[in-house]
Amino acid sequence: PYVEEYDALVYTMQEYVSPDIPQEKVSIIAPAIDPLSPKNTYLNKAMCEKIISWVGIDPEKPLITQVSRFDPWKDPLGVLEVYHQLKKEVPDLQLALLGHLAADDPQGWLMYDQVVAAAGSDPDIHMFTNFTAASSLEVNAFQRRSDVVIQKSIREGFGLVVAEALWKGTPVVAGRAGGIPLQLQDGKSGYLIDSTDECANKVYKLLQNPKQARKMGLNGKRHIRSHFLSPRLLDDELTLLSSLGSRSAVHS
Ligand code: UDP
Repeated sequence: PYVEEYDALVYTMQEYVSPDIPQEKVSIIAPAIDPLSPKNTYLNKAMCEKIISWVGIDPEKPLITQVSRFDPWKDPLGVLEVYHQLKKEVPDLQLALLGHLAADDPQGWLMYDQVVAAAGSDPDIHMFTNFTAASSLEVNAFQRRSDVVIQKSIREGFGLVVAEALWKGTPVVAGRAGGIPLQLQDGKSGYLIDSTDECANKVYKLLQNPKQARKMGLNGKRHIRSHFLSPRLLDDELTLLSSLGSRSAVHS
């Protein structure tokens, strides 16, 4: 009954719309990122390298990153497994895991502890939280400077981090979950994966072919520019509002 009070209902994808919802009120509008925010604004290579060096990353060595809450659906333990598989083939590989922790999210802290334990004392695994170094600027530098960004989600809402990384020209290997396939064109701007082994194989492929990785990153950037930046969102929202305005004009 509360839902019926509203004139419009906005969903990311049709799959999320429950059949009980009044379908004529539904609009499908995907989220978007703000290219001018500190998280997404342009940073040059030297600045990115400075930022990641400050927090202990060697910019000369290959780097893979996941930016996500420490949550089972984001599968950080799976990312560690991917890293461990790759490390045998790429001995100087570095892994960065950036994630927010909230004081009122005991599950997040539990997951964080599990990841710390699984990471052991490997000096090439770097974990950052909002208590250390995972503010917008660092997220920006990591997404920009990583060779590959991973988003190993098993379940996902939209997965804004995929748009964020692709917008920076970085190829992404990500779980085929939620809104990720809308953003990531499989084989064109990275790869959609369904398992840990597949994830490791695709990341390895990109690490071995930097030229192809760059090309894929640029394809991704083009796709995000056309579909997932804030002007498109504004356009969709204004179109929706103006359709509501004309509807109420008819009713009055
Ligand atoms: N994020 C961040 N710092 C972190 C982890 C995540 O700023 O340490 C941001 C990330 O850049 C993105 C958002 O949090 O903008 C996460 O959105 P997403 O849709 O990917 O996942 P959610 O957490 O909403 O499931």
